[in-house]
Amino acid sequence: MIKKVVIATANPNKVEEIKEIAGDIGIEFVCAPEGFGPVENGETFMENAYIKAREAALMTGMYALGDDSGLCVDAMGGAPGLYSSRFEKTAKNRINKLLNILKDVPEGKRDAKFVCSMVLVDPEGKKLKGADGSVFGSITTKPKGSNGFGYDPVFYIPAYDKTMAQLSLDVKNQISHRAMALQPVIAYILRHNMYIQQKMKKAVKKSDNLH
Ligand code: IMP
Repeated sequence: MIKKVVIATANPNKVEEIKEIAGDIGIEFVCAPEGFGPVENGETFMENAYIKAREAALMTGMYALGDDSGLCVDAMGGAPGLYSSRFEKTAKNRINKLLNILKDVPEGKRDAKFVCSMVLVDPEGKKLKGADGSVFGSITTKPKGSNGFGYDPVFYIPAYDKTMAQLSLDVKNQISHRAMALQPVIAYILRHNMYIQQKMKKAVKKSDNLH
């Protein structure tokens, strides 16, 4: 049974979002231990998510969930993409750099997406399930809103006429790239646990019949 899962990130905002999205499903999510910080040298979000999950599993001997995410802007050829967190040192500087690069790009040509890959591994680091999620929007000309983190204040979602940072965390967690990627992984865990439970019940029945 998968009862406890370590979340392979040092970002407390992600941990909170993942716990909220998963809800009360009888699985304990814990943070990555001190010293966690693998080199993210994968060539895709999925590869980086796996690198993180494997490292957390090998450090703790637990099932681990790795997450890699980023912002891909069409007018920048998909950048900052894999380098979203390394684009600049602070969230404020990242936003300023992004808005500066896009300063001459007109409305209608500022399309972007948030992308997330999630990978669940077993305690030996073997991949059990991977999933991707995206949310589509565009980049505003100035930051709006104070919820969320990272690029949320400049990521506009037309269906809500709001930036991600103007949405409540509740709504963000229903529509976000992280929610889209996490849901299939949660479904996998629940199915896996149900299967093990049924196997255990059958084994008990069999041994009862023997006596
Ligand atoms: P990593 O997945 O920790 O390597 O970094 C992903 C980076 O992408 C974060 O540091 C943020 O800058 C950005 N990012 C990922 N998800 C979100 C989100 O939900 N909102 C805003 N920025 C995000």
